[in-house]
Amino acid sequence: MIIAIDGPAAAGKGTLARRIAQSLGLPYLDTGLLYRAVGRRVLDAGGNPADPIMATKAAEDLQEEDLDRSDLRGGPADKAASQVASIPGVRAALLAFQRQFGSRNGAVLDGRDIGTIIFPHADIKFFVTASLEARTIRRHAELLARGETVPLDVVRADLAARDDADAKRIAAPLKPARDAVMFDTSWLDADAAFVEAMALIDKRLNPGPRQGDLPA
Ligand code: C5P
Repeated sequence: MIIAIDGPAAAGKGTLARRIAQSLGLPYLDTGLLYRAVGRRVLDAGGNPADPIMATKAAEDLQEEDLDRSDLRGGPADKAASQVASIPGVRAALLAFQRQFGSRNGAVLDGRDIGTIIFPHADIKFFVTASLEARTIRRHAELLARGETVPLDVVRADLAARDDADAKRIAAPLKPARDAVMFDTSWLDADAAFVEAMALIDKRLNPGPRQGDLPA
């Protein structure tokens, strides 16, 4: 079974995806980490993450251990991830890894193009959104918990700029798949979002008798 969870930054995709995966006993892949690790490799080499040749090479050379690095989050890594993510060669290099990951034992994957490009035939697709204000407050709290004090205005502007770049790029832009379930978490905490998502999954997997079905 493949469950695709896409949506803008800080909409609650990761927490939701992790909990769904745990509850269904499926492997989980945070695909944002792939782009973050590629961006980090380019930065480490003193390069510009917007350079297609360097970024594509970094994506081709990516190792699974790169995903375990502790410096993949935070301002420069966020920006570098978004820059490398707009390069078609980078996306092409990361596509096979994502498909192989899901094809082994099924998976829950979260990202921007899982339901549109990576697994267009996923069993269930969620497009998780939340208002910019709700996402700003969440990301701000996450940063504070990591000991980073970033003003709310800066967090809001960073999220808006990244979403804008993700939605407007030509290669695999952020958008809901036609058959995605739209899921707005603005007013839901992580527990409520999980309960609601599991109910939707259950309904999809066990549709029950349809109107007009004859009783057994
Ligand atoms: O999900 P996360 O915020 O960690 O992703 C970091 C960046 O990686 C996003 O802003 C986006 O540009 C890129 N990304 C992507 N496709 C994915 C996952 C992430 O383009 N499937």
